[in-house]
Amino acid sequence: MIYMDYNATTPTDERVLEEMLPYFSQEYGNPSSIYSLAQRARNAVEQARERVAKLLNADPREIIFTSGGTEADNFALKGVAYANQDKGKHIITSQIEHHAVLNACKFLEKQGFPVTYLPVDRWGVVDIEALEKSITPQTILISIMLANNEVGTIQPIKIIAEIAKKHGVYFHTDAVQGVGKIPVDVNDLGVDLLSLSAHKFYGPKGVGALYVRRGVRILPFINGGEQEKGRRAGTENVPGIVGLGKAAELAQREMEEEEKRVKKLRDKLEQKLVQKIPEIIVNGHPQKRLFNTLSICVKYVEGESMLMNLDKEGICASSGSACTSASLEPSHVLLAMGIPPEVAHGSLRFSLGKFNREADVEKVSEVLPPIVEELRRVSPFWEG
Ligand SMILES: *Cc1c(COP(=O)(O)O)cnc(C)c1O
Repeated sequence: MIYMDYNATTPTDERVLEEMLPYFSQEYGNPSSIYSLAQRARNAVEQARERVAKLLNADPREIIFTSGGTEADNFALKGVAYANQDKGKHIITSQIEHHAVLNACKFLEKQGFPVTYLPVDRWGVVDIEALEKSITPQTILISIMLANNEVGTIQPIKIIAEIAKKHGVYFHTDAVQGVGKIPVDVNDLGVDLLSLSAHKFYGPKGVGALYVRRGVRILPFINGGEQEKGRRAGTENVPGIVGLGKAAELAQREMEEEEKRVKKLRDKLEQKLVQKIPEIIVNGHPQKRLFNTLSICVKYVEGESMLMNLDKEGICASSGSACTSASLEPSHVLLAMGIPPEVAHGSLRFSLGKFNREADVEKVSEVLPPIVEELRRVSPFWEG
């Protein structure tokens, strides 16, 4: 099998799993209890908090553990919206956000919070002028993702943060695709809130975190006990949190090497596919793009048909995002970038990672062209 869908999820690193295992069995204490069994679990949670904070150059007290990226996004948007509605109710986001942000915004719209969805250019970069123009005295929050999960485009987060700061508006970034892959420093970026998820960087599924800068007004997201200083109640997912911490530590140490290695493979795959398949488009920004992501549109072919044929060859990729693969709607990200719907239907995303090797690139670039050729042969739109 060849796995090239690392933006959907990653396998848990063996070293991460090893560190998690004792916390399912021997070290099962509830971190809120007082005996030493429980205090060892508490210490493990706090060590993980330090590791995550270190990866982000944050203070450990600014890290709140969640059940993943989706919860962190919902927490940031709803928590800030409800806590600051005395000041105003306007929220600004972009048209290319992950559904965790988009659907939380849609929910808030129904609750009486007006939301502006900013357009992007053909590379998927948010229109900065439109952003600045859309800020009103009622604006309380801007939420723009750091790197897009489908096409990999990286946003000018520092510039957006400066604009937000100038207008006294909070700035949240969904950094789920950035954290663990590329350096993310909350102070250098100047963000107020930031979401991350363990399973996107070789940690376990179902655990993530929200960074909240000290002093930011945010409502607790889940009410209950005093866990996470009362802001996110519920007995901690100790093994998951330990796994997130270990994944953060490994990422910090290994990401630079990994970027060099994987970027070479991605670039080679891109070059080969562009060379071998006529009439394809490479999506996303040519330079400001995640080093592991290759999104293409193959004209006159359905993305789903290519995926099924690739699967027969043991190759895992995706079309659009994992969330839209199940529906037949073209990707909202590609449409926002101005790609015509009939072209967007032919989208294919390869996202590479730790276990890809040169031979995988060779195999995919040998297998895909004949698949495309065959599908085009039977396509009513293709005229050769
Ligand atoms: C995967 C992803 C999420 C959701 O994270 P989960 O931990 O799967 O809930 C949010 N935003 C982006 C950009 C993602 O890629």
